[in-house]
Amino acid sequence: MARISINIKDGSVKKADTIIGIDLGTTNSLVAIIDSVNGLPYCLSKSDATIVPSILYFNPNGEIKVGNAAKPHLITDPQNTIYSIKRLLGRSYTDIQAHANSYGYRIIEDETKAMIRVEMNGKFYNPIELSAFILKALKENAEAVLNTKIKKAVITVPAYFNDSQRQATRDAGKIAGLDVLRIVNEPTAASLAYGIGLNKDENKCIAVYDLGGGTFDITILRIEQGVFEVLATNGDTYTGGDDFDRAIVMQWCQKFELSIETIEKNKSLYQSIRLQAEHVKKQLSSNNEVDCELEIEGNKHQFKYTIEEFNSAISSIVLRTIECCKMAVRDAEVGLTDINEIVMVGGSTRVPAVVNAVKAFFKKDQVHNELNPDEVVALGAAIEADILAGNRKDLLLLDVTPLSLGIETAGGLMDTIIPRNSKVPQLVGRQYTTSVDGQANLKIAIYQGEREMVEDNRKLGEFILSGIPAMPAGFPKIDIQFLLNADGILKVNATELRSNTSQTISIVPQYGLTDTEVEQMLLASFQNAEQDMQNRLLAESRTEAEQLIYQCQKLIQANAVLLTEMEIKETEHLLNELREVIKGNNRDTINEQTERLNDYTRPFAERLMDTAIGNALTGKKLDAL
Ligand code: ADP
Ligand code: MG
Repeated sequence: MARISINIKDGSVKKADTIIGIDLGTTNSLVAIIDSVNGLPYCLSKSDATIVPSILYFNPNGEIKVGNAAKPHLITDPQNTIYSIKRLLGRSYTDIQAHANSYGYRIIEDETKAMIRVEMNGKFYNPIELSAFILKALKENAEAVLNTKIKKAVITVPAYFNDSQRQATRDAGKIAGLDVLRIVNEPTAASLAYGIGLNKDENKCIAVYDLGGGTFDITILRIEQGVFEVLATNGDTYTGGDDFDRAIVMQWCQKFELSIETIEKNKSLYQSIRLQAEHVKKQLSSNNEVDCELEIEGNKHQFKYTIEEFNSAISSIVLRTIECCKMAVRDAEVGLTDINEIVMVGGSTRVPAVVNAVKAFFKKDQVHNELNPDEVVALGAAIEADILAGNRKDLLLLDVTPLSLGIETAGGLMDTIIPRNSKVPQLVGRQYTTSVDGQANLKIAIYQGEREMVEDNRKLGEFILSGIPAMPAGFPKIDIQFLLNADGILKVNATELRSNTSQTISIVPQYGLTDTEVEQMLLASFQNAEQDMQNRLLAESRTEAEQLIYQCQKLIQANAVLLTEMEIKETEHLLNELREVIKGNNRDTINEQTERLNDYTRPFAERLMDTAIGNALTGKKLDAL
């Protein structure tokens, strides 16, 4: 069933591109495609391993290792080994602050709402670039296995991912050289893998229980005529199979009267016990007891570890996941009897106690766990890819918008509001703020295209939002709404929420644009993806630096009497240095210098409790007129 398309004008034959489905996981990532012979999805394996650990190692000599090759460095060189990138994707330092210490590598501590950065061997990386390394490795593996170039993909994300986390995932795909045709919710993909939702006439309510290595998600979905709607999500981004391993280690420590603190201090001893615990845990998914042998501080311990002991070790963790299920069902406003099917996802759902607890809570004799729980999400992504490729004629493909639509933000950047391939109709709203004090007029410029800088995209129109009452920079709340209706008309509305000043424009994005032009615009975005991202990051760093300069100048002017002469002098010195480096094109030096000025002035800002600063430094900004 190899697919070809024939150009009816000139009769030329073209083989259709392979579209891969990617499960970009917190712990592990996978790729699946549809078997061209039997039409069924399967996961690609290279040298027996279908799973690629989502881990990166930055060798001091500049080499970057991905997956299994990077894994051992978690123990040998934790500072330069990055894991759980997905938790950082599309987030700012303030978002993850509470858990910052649980990462073995250095996350740059800036108290802004800007994208997180990590520093590896003197270079700064953001989670988009880091995820791109993983996606690139997956793409290359797939190309090697299939012996063909891969350009298109469907990538899955958790149902609770917000707009910026989804956009970050798309961007990562783009840098990896992948045209991300669609971002699909993981629970939706898992349901598709079980064939749920493929029949247009079936209307159902589904619960998807996903317990992975470090995260737990429960999602309640409603499926109506092939359309999946998320009714509620709940979960805990810091609960998973890793906690089971830790619970076993604790139990063993108790058994042999060892203090857990002593064991944890000895990192390699702890790691080796933890790995054994994980091994035993996996065996207990198909056995009732396991013979164990532990060597701790020269003493050999031989013992039998039973499923009863294991169940008691993990009971409170399992209970916690059930509490989340309870809340999700309540939020979804459905009764337990309304839920037709339960889908189990994630390696930890192999644990019998987990399956039993889920069955008991949802009052079901059966749950879907026939497929490999590590693979279901990737398998479903492959099915979605197949639908998008138009290979399932029985399924209706909803109208989609061929190019992204967005507005210009500070620094000439394109901020995508409706991503390409979004279903039409679509209504999306987003909030912005100003970058200068007392800004009364704002220009809203609307663009179409995939490039990072607006100058490379197609301008659709602009309008001025005027009459904003005088407020300090960062105070106005400008809500911009894009409504793309079924006829392809885009209505853009901007409202300053504090004063209720509003303005609207209507445009037809596809007007005068041929298919060939759309194709060319897409092609250019891939050819320039790497450079575009660098330009974007540079522009973002510059804007951030300019904002800080502006705020620091204000701070000094307004509070000169409250600062010492030394403090003013040093701030001015740092300000001058920053003004100098932003003239250049080195993003790393701009970031470093920004961080230096930020670190130096943060204590005064706190001391002066200048709330304007805190407010002004958050959120995307629109340029002054
Ligand atoms: P993620 O979605 O976070 O990337 P996975 O779905 O790949 O994670 O799940 C990984 C977790 O599954 C690990 O904690 C691992 O120990 C656990 N796991 C894998 N196989 C088994 C098994 N046979 N029995 C119990 N737990 C298992
Ligand atoms: Mg997963």
